[in-house]
Amino acid sequence: MITSDIHMHSSFSSDSESPMESMIQGALAKGLKTICFTEHLDYEYPSDTEEPLFLVDIDAYTKKLTELREIYKKDIEILYGIEFGLLPHLAGRYDAVASAHDFDFIIGSSHLVSAPWYMKDIEFIKKNGHAPENMRHGDPYEDDFWEGRSVEDICELYFKTISNNIQAYKNFDTYAHIDYVIRYAPEKNKDYTYKKYASILDEALKAIINQNLALEINTAGYKYGLGQPNPQADILKRYRELGGEKITIGADAHKPEHIAYDFSKTHDLLTGLGFKYYTVFKKRQPIMLPL
Ligand SMILES: [Zn+2]
Ligand SMILES: [Zn+2]
Repeated sequence: MITSDIHMHSSFSSDSESPMESMIQGALAKGLKTICFTEHLDYEYPSDTEEPLFLVDIDAYTKKLTELREIYKKDIEILYGIEFGLLPHLAGRYDAVASAHDFDFIIGSSHLVSAPWYMKDIEFIKKNGHAPENMRHGDPYEDDFWEGRSVEDICELYFKTISNNIQAYKNFDTYAHIDYVIRYAPEKNKDYTYKKYASILDEALKAIINQNLALEINTAGYKYGLGQPNPQADILKRYRELGGEKITIGADAHKPEHIAYDFSKTHDLLTGLGFKYYTVFKKRQPIMLPL
């Protein structure tokens, strides 16, 4: 049984409107024993407006979590986490945040891909001869990110971000949704296989294992109708073959009803691949729990 969901967001993240307490109630309704909030911090996330995106107010977040943890302490264990949107040049800034707070768990994610062709601010480019610094990367989540490029090109670029990010920055605990890119491809995961990108993915998996990080299985892939979690089964299988042992599990819920999404399916997938444990982090230390 999987009784912990350690990747979720509340209204402290730009893409969620769910109050933290409603997420806790949702977790209780699912019978979970442990949850971890992992609000978004994505420095330099491109924004079309004056309003910056994905910069959690850590002080307000910490205060609310501390209050609610106390109120619900008899019912559920609430862990304190964060999700960093990694880019190699931001390593120092994330390291400062990681060191300044007493997080239980830090997720590292590739949300943005450096993509020189993806420059929205044409007026700025005309005037200055180059794109603004924070517009040189984009999120494959955006439809126009895929325009005029092949799916293979973008997937390759995306998968390369994993080992590049780890090379620059290591102060986190698990690498999240390592094939996130495929959720947003024009035809989603049609024709997508591990084999197609085996050498780049192996490099990513080896970097994760060598740095003693965990690999996340993110069940939102099921929610997106991919029929797979992120990453898909062949990547999980390869991770195990290469010696990877630590798997963290999260539904990446932004609404209460998505908490622990398809966890029983995920349980069967993992045990079918030979995994006997999953991992929860407390005070940044891995704890192995039986599946
Ligand atoms: Zn993410
Ligand atoms: Zn997330």
